[in-house]
Amino acid sequence: MTATILDGKHVAQLTEAALAERVTSIKSRSEGRTPVLATILVGDDPASATYVKMKGNACQRIGMESLAIELPASTSTNDLLRQIEELNLNPDVHGILLQHPVPSQIDERACFDMIALEKDVDGVTCLGFGRMAMGESAYGCATPQGIMRLLEHYEIALSGLHAVVVGRSPILGKPMAMMLLEANATVTICHSRTRDLESHVRQADLIVGAVGRPEFIRADWIKDGAVVVDAGYHPGGVGDIELQPLLERASAITPVPGGVGPMTINTLIQQTVQSGEKSLA
Ligand code: NAP
Repeated sequence: MTATILDGKHVAQLTEAALAERVTSIKSRSEGRTPVLATILVGDDPASATYVKMKGNACQRIGMESLAIELPASTSTNDLLRQIEELNLNPDVHGILLQHPVPSQIDERACFDMIALEKDVDGVTCLGFGRMAMGESAYGCATPQGIMRLLEHYEIALSGLHAVVVGRSPILGKPMAMMLLEANATVTICHSRTRDLESHVRQADLIVGAVGRPEFIRADWIKDGAVVVDAGYHPGGVGDIELQPLLERASAITPVPGGVGPMTINTLIQQTVQSGEKSLA
């Protein structure tokens, strides 16, 4: 069996063309105004700076504006809360992205939760998570929502599958598990205290690697015909799953790079366009 490649780069490019048209249409209906994504970068971590720049570039490609806010590494929780509140109140801002992680003196959860629900286009608030988990409308957390959109694009039927998610972080593993549950998969969530991880992974019809350790999930744990989703990205272009041997055994597989990564940014801008449409159109 040769695995279908779940080509996130391709799907993101396709969607960008459609998003550019939606932005043009918003502009024509609202005296030239476009949706605006505010990005907040705290400190000078080079990887975070690169991610924020990539998000700003994606806005530009579809004709949408972004507002880049850069704060010093010494920023306090209160400073950041005040900044977010200002953006919540700014009618020209339709989405707010607080780049994770923030410096350790900041209460990141409090700051995420300060983001107004209607501007939470990265899907990081507890309220948004709770609503999503209850099947109510909310913007999905960008990486798992991007994975769901990728699976949908390739018409992977999820109902009744046994999905195993390895990782339970607030921005990836947990919302991923809830989204798969909402799509009627039977979900197992594994984490660092899970006993005999391999035995759980062996049962997966769909496996999601969200561990943050290079090729930690071994190819020979994964059964033939499984759908393989790898959220990880590490130097050398490897993910959290040993992917190479699975190209001939899985039914579908996300490449690294070019699978999950492009869908994350694409989901963020798609949700910002949706938010812009709600308040501008
Ligand atoms: P994280 O916050 O570090 O969470 C890692 C998770 O893996 C935790 O839940 C942890 O369990 C679990 N884990 C650690 N060691 C384990 C072990 N030995 N066995 C089983 N589970 C174990 O990482 P994250 O932010 O979710 O990111 C996960 C991966 O996704 C990383 O490779 C990251 O680079 C990637 N990522 C990609 C994107 C994208 O846009 N492509 C976005 C975000 C993240 P505990 O909860 O028990 O500690």
